[in-house]
Amino acid sequence: MKNIRKILIANRGEIACRIIKTAQRLGIKTVAVHSSVDEQAMFVAMADEAVQIGAPEASQSYLVADKIIAAAKRTGADAIHPGYGFLSENPEFTDLCAANDITFIGPSGDAMRAMALKGTAKQIMIDAGVPVVPGYHGEDQDLDTLQLEADSIGYPVLIKAVAGGGGKGMRTVENPLDLKSAVEAAAREGQNSFGNPKLLIEKLITRPRHIEVQVFGGPDGKAVHLLERDCSLQRRHQKVLEEAPAPGMTNEMRRIMGEAAVKAADAIAYKGAGTVEFIVDVAKGLREDAFYFMEMNTRLQVEHPVTEMITGVDLVEWQIRVAEGKPLPLSQDEILSHLKGHAFEARLYAEDPNNNFMPSIGKIGLFDPFMPLADGCRIDTGVQAGDHVTVYYDPMIAKLITWGADRACALAAMQNLVKETAVSGLATNRDFIAGAVAHPAFMKGDVHTGFIAEHEADLIPQQSIKAQDYAIGAAIIRAHRSSPASNDPWLIQDNFRMNLPNNEDFLFDGQDGERIKATRHHNTIRVLDQAFSIAAENLGCHKYRITLDGHTHTLIAEITDTCVTIIKECATIVPKRHASVHIGTDESDGPGTVTAPMPGKILEVKINNGESVERGDPILLMEAMKMEQTITAPRAGRVTSLTVKAGDLVGNNAVLCEITDPE
Ligand code: ADP
Repeated sequence: MKNIRKILIANRGEIACRIIKTAQRLGIKTVAVHSSVDEQAMFVAMADEAVQIGAPEASQSYLVADKIIAAAKRTGADAIHPGYGFLSENPEFTDLCAANDITFIGPSGDAMRAMALKGTAKQIMIDAGVPVVPGYHGEDQDLDTLQLEADSIGYPVLIKAVAGGGGKGMRTVENPLDLKSAVEAAAREGQNSFGNPKLLIEKLITRPRHIEVQVFGGPDGKAVHLLERDCSLQRRHQKVLEEAPAPGMTNEMRRIMGEAAVKAADAIAYKGAGTVEFIVDVAKGLREDAFYFMEMNTRLQVEHPVTEMITGVDLVEWQIRVAEGKPLPLSQDEILSHLKGHAFEARLYAEDPNNNFMPSIGKIGLFDPFMPLADGCRIDTGVQAGDHVTVYYDPMIAKLITWGADRACALAAMQNLVKETAVSGLATNRDFIAGAVAHPAFMKGDVHTGFIAEHEADLIPQQSIKAQDYAIGAAIIRAHRSSPASNDPWLIQDNFRMNLPNNEDFLFDGQDGERIKATRHHNTIRVLDQAFSIAAENLGCHKYRITLDGHTHTLIAEITDTCVTIIKECATIVPKRHASVHIGTDESDGPGTVTAPMPGKILEVKINNGESVERGDPILLMEAMKMEQTITAPRAGRVTSLTVKAGDLVGNNAVLCEITDPE
């Protein structure tokens, strides 16, 4: 047994902040390592010491084991916490820590190796008597073999890269004829992202729930479980809303799943925090004979806070204790007897639900993680207003966490917390979360992984800005100007008709590019042939009291020189302000110019200069914010000016090639 005195956190963002908080409470010193763009980040400021380890790309910084070990030696850190992602499930890194006499806060390299590949992990579970999804996970990767196996499993099947993670390298195949292309795509994603093209095939469970069990192995390699989490609400096979316990879970089923998870951990003498993920077939309800092992994550999970909220356990503290060689603080029975209430976590992402949840980047305008929180609420984040979400890392802004005496209370608390969470400056899934947690089916606990697709129409409403929104926008601009702190650059430009002091025009750019004029006369604003009696008062801190046709309510708004962000309870509306001077024209809009939809890396160029393409033909593959995207020809023609090549990094809207008229 040894006491850890100084922990280096080989991670960034919210999880680095989360780990530092526990270390501080335990009187343990902390060291942050960071890339050059993270110099000013919250986690760097929170740590006692910080070491810069390289360029923004994770491959130059957070993934470079040698630099991290060197930073630990230089600062005298005696332990490293890897957080999640990055090096957290890298057995070589774990071994390197051991070789340098640094305590790795996590499981052994061997335990990671056992669980690293989905196929191998499945075999260990079969041997340990844990149920797994029927399928093929053999060595032979020949297309004919895979086709035969898929045919015998029966369609639909799911193809998974054995080394995959975060939903990457997975393809659903409904039709035997589509197997080949799906195999190729999944193998390529596996190779590009994880350096391993090997695949497995599974029966696709058509109405599944994702229920995972938090396990904890003590220094003796004997595990306990800390109940389950339901993470069924997913988009792109990635979790957005999690809760504990799982709705509808009986004590008997919990016991059986908990025992299976502990069996899984004990099979590899697991030490520390781990998660055993199960997929549950709920076609016939939540049944004890229909749950299957999917994979084991040998690290702390993003969604660990919901477990902490219902068990009262600080999982990071337990990780540190176990790494010190100390026994688990609670027995299985004690954990179960301490259980209390229900908890939710919502992942607030910089991503656009109206654009297939594609990540967005930019500067965060409003976001106050330090706002006073109601009892039972917690926000885990690593950013605040003014910080940037960049292309380099995961676009998660914060985890909104609530606890309540029962599911309904915890959910009501979440509904409130989301309403109070205002974010501006970039597209986020905040309104989407607000809609999901207030959706009748979610409130009933009727969750499954197809939930978002099934309720898409309710959850992702088409955003149209109405006349009333422009009127509110105009009223807010006016109230903002009359507040003492205002330094609105358009102050003079909008109000140029000096001889008509009671009339004021506010100009907006409509969603179809048309100009929209809102005209105020006394307390009436006319816009798009409608008239609103409206008054707005700035209450400070971006809060405005709006009285619209005799009805008063408050909302949060941010005004910049390009837009007004109006944040209502469940909707964020962003009328664009019309700039009287246009700065250049957007050349990338020209027909036939193919541009990068977001910053990213070119993976593969599929076409040569001079070749002809049809509309929709793939031109290149790029990876952006951890996702692979095919860029297709917007029209038929001949490809010219194609200068990018595999490996190039391109910026947002970068011109990739031109398509000229066919000769
Ligand atoms: P990753 O490691 O990429 O996260 P997982 O194997 O954990 O991949 O699966 C991610 C998600 O994909 C699961 O939470 C579940 O929603 C879905 N999924 C996985 N396996 C199956 C299956 N056999 N049938 C249906 N859905 C599945």
